[in-house]
Amino acid sequence: MERLLVFPQPFPDESLYSLTVRYHRMMANDSYRLTSQELFGTYSRTCGSILPCCLDALSKRLAGLYSVAELIDRSTLLPLYQPFLDDAAYESAKVTMAGNRGTGLKMSLGITASRFLKHASFRYCESCLHEDSERFGVAYWHRIHLSPGTCVCPHHDEVLCSLTFPHGSDWRCMLLPGESGGTPVMESYGDKAAGTVAEMQLWGLEHPSSVRGLLNGDFLRHRLAELGFIKSGRISEKILRPFLIERLKHCPNINEFQEVTHSCDWVLRMLHPRGLIVQPLKFYLLCWLLEARLSELQSFHPPAEVGNAYVPRRNNMNKTLHDADLEAHRSAFLSDSNSKCHDKPHYHWLYRHDREWLKEYVISHPFMRSRKSLIDWEARDTALTYNLLIANEKIMSTSGKPQKITRSLLVRQIDQSHDFLRRPSKFPKSISLMNGLLESDHDHQIRKVRWAVKNFLLSERCATSVVLRYSGIRKPHVTETEILNILSTTKLSW
Ligand SMILES: [Zn+2]
Repeated sequence: MERLLVFPQPFPDESLYSLTVRYHRMMANDSYRLTSQELFGTYSRTCGSILPCCLDALSKRLAGLYSVAELIDRSTLLPLYQPFLDDAAYESAKVTMAGNRGTGLKMSLGITASRFLKHASFRYCESCLHEDSERFGVAYWHRIHLSPGTCVCPHHDEVLCSLTFPHGSDWRCMLLPGESGGTPVMESYGDKAAGTVAEMQLWGLEHPSSVRGLLNGDFLRHRLAELGFIKSGRISEKILRPFLIERLKHCPNINEFQEVTHSCDWVLRMLHPRGLIVQPLKFYLLCWLLEARLSELQSFHPPAEVGNAYVPRRNNMNKTLHDADLEAHRSAFLSDSNSKCHDKPHYHWLYRHDREWLKEYVISHPFMRSRKSLIDWEARDTALTYNLLIANEKIMSTSGKPQKITRSLLVRQIDQSHDFLRRPSKFPKSISLMNGLLESDHDHQIRKVRWAVKNFLLSERCATSVVLRYSGIRKPHVTETEILNILSTTKLSW
């Protein structure tokens, strides 16, 4: 293997393709094929890609001047994707980029499925071009300008231009920015979305671990909560959707943005992840949709314990808060005595800045849920009174020796006696009615005497003892006068 004797010193944020072009110029090679052979030991088809391969061969030819990891971190766009990949996917991507075959890499990172690739172009910023030419003597390709969804230079806030390779050729003709015709990638740059997303992508590219902190700290959910889109711990799609649709109208409808502005379904899929790799552009665009600024991403402090990622913490900000501020937020919170705790005004602010106080408040003010009963006990009570009257009527009209009307006899006749027996307090009307229906021993014996007199055709000539025997009464609660009275009246009614 030939060691390289020369290799360009990388400029800030310079892509690997840009380094290759500059090497090509240094060596005055006449074809990409030769340059690729010298740098990678093979004909690399991925040199012009945002995720180039053959890096192990290059690192070896550089005799360890840059390791594969350094080449990946400094000259490719993998760090932009890194926070959104689990360790296994990230390691696998690095292995692929170290090797000579990049087949399936973009697919495995979800880039192919995102449909952003069809909008890819070699983009540059006119201002960067002039500044780089003055500062370094040559213009070069910046990684960030090549990242999907970056249509505006994050350094100059200018719309990027897309280079058109001459005669229908591609990157293999080894050009640097400004060496062929360029056309702006957007007509105008009126809205903030493209600029903010570009700034966030640049920051994300340079700070993958901070972005991972945002994800671990569930920054997006935190933001949704701040905007009031979380109700009872769940994302309220009903109010989130119209908000997103309105915000999406302010996004440019061109290039990669075309793929995300036609619907907000992708946002909801992203918020309920099912193992899909999140595209950086979508994450940063969603940050913008949720009105987050780059400074908020930068100042976000994820929770200390990984795994408890639901609510991010920013407790350290307490140090800079004034007492008056705290009091104002606390008063606003306390002014609403009807809402549930997390629906009260300024709850989320207090959660972030004054959590100890909030915790004490919650402990000392347990929320008593006013649970409206699903059962209409009054209606049941009314129905039961009706059933009791029917039961009473049924017992009274039964032929044979009269049964004493007792509580248990009545209850046996009615449906839903279970509730009635277990929850008598729910049936005040029925209880009152039933107490009136219950029969005393005296009343029961009167009925029995009447029944016996009528059933056995007893006359006034019968002795009282005979009447009692026919009536089945052993221990009389009726007087002799009452029995005689019944005998005479019953006789009259014959
Ligand atoms: Zn620029």
